[in-house]
Amino acid sequence: MSGVFDRFGIPTIINAYGTNTRLSAGPLADEVADAMREAATASVDILDLQAAACREITRATGAEAGFVTSGASAGLLLAAAACMARLDAGAMNRLPATREGRCEFLIARSQRNMYDRAIETAGGRLVDVGIPDRVSGAGVRDASVGEYLDAVTPRTAGILHVANDRAEPPLATLCHVAREAGLPVIVDAAAQLPPAANLRRFLAEGGDLVVYSGGKAIGGPQASGILCGRADLVTSALAQMLDLDLPEAQFRPPPEFAPLGQMAFLPRTGIGRSSKVGREEVMGLLVALRRFTGEDATARTARWQARLDALRDACPLPFEADQAGEVPLLMLRHADAVAIEARLRAGRPAVHVNTARLLREGVLTLNPLSLHPRDIPALAAALTAAWTD
Ligand SMILES: *Cc1c(COP(=O)(O)O)cnc(C)c1O
Repeated sequence: MSGVFDRFGIPTIINAYGTNTRLSAGPLADEVADAMREAATASVDILDLQAAACREITRATGAEAGFVTSGASAGLLLAAAACMARLDAGAMNRLPATREGRCEFLIARSQRNMYDRAIETAGGRLVDVGIPDRVSGAGVRDASVGEYLDAVTPRTAGILHVANDRAEPPLATLCHVAREAGLPVIVDAAAQLPPAANLRRFLAEGGDLVVYSGGKAIGGPQASGILCGRADLVTSALAQMLDLDLPEAQFRPPPEFAPLGQMAFLPRTGIGRSSKVGREEVMGLLVALRRFTGEDATARTARWQARLDALRDACPLPFEADQAGEVPLLMLRHADAVAIEARLRAGRPAVHVNTARLLREGVLTLNPLSLHPRDIPALAAALTAAWTD
């Protein structure tokens, strides 16, 4: 199975950590991998490809429009570019600079994260709102609607909201205020699936642009994602990713992206061009999305649980189940968990487990999303050896 990696001297690993980019995420379903392989052997017009993606994504999300990006982070970059330039081709050409300096994005200070850099990559500037006392433990407050409104200036281009059930103010409240202020809200929902209902939820709550990661629970290729929402903004984002090196007269916008026709002229290749996505990723994502929306939630959880059950059957260690989240997990608790984790990583094949609770609680967490059933015997052997060493 590791033939191609062997040929180039690349060690394969056992990934019980999760769908991390750093660990190349999990195995693709055969149907998804087959779609990518098949897509790789024919040529298509990329605009036709993204028009089909738009039809598929609008069906799954209820959005006016959508397309496939090279990831959620790329989706954030493109969303910011869309909020700044809208359908103004000149403004697209000027990014990452803006003529009137309308480049600020408000974000609750408690929601700042590693991925918000994508907004700045497009030329945006993040303006922090509120004080995260609720998160630091110093108090109960976070960011309030009044503080958001106070931060709005003629330079404000939009709001970035990181979807989370504990977010303050809640998305629906924030969107209500944003609409009155005429500001679009970008929702980072990269890791908010499952539940599948979240494909519709953030748009229904008023989000203007929503991004999802394709390489997480949707089960698409690692370098894929979804950007969906308002047709004018989605179309602006697409225009800034597409390769537009063609004579203007030959450019024919498909009906799915009709707002492209509102641009006064065809912009140059845009700021999102370096986030380009290939036909293989688009087709892989679309097949994965159909599988994700077509699969009953109970069946999906049972499929993940079966991998964990197989591990428990193959391995006599004192596993504890963690059923608190959308994805069932296994935990191993040990006074010497740090050393065990280091031994696992040093093994051949190296085994990666989730370390979020390692240092404070001595807990190793195993996530079934990125595990291939064929890895289970080797994982059981590696865990047993590292435990008793
Ligand atoms: C994973 C993640 C991203 C990045 O997703 P990619 O598809 O890997 O680009 C962005 N934001 C959040 C909150 C995430 O969890």
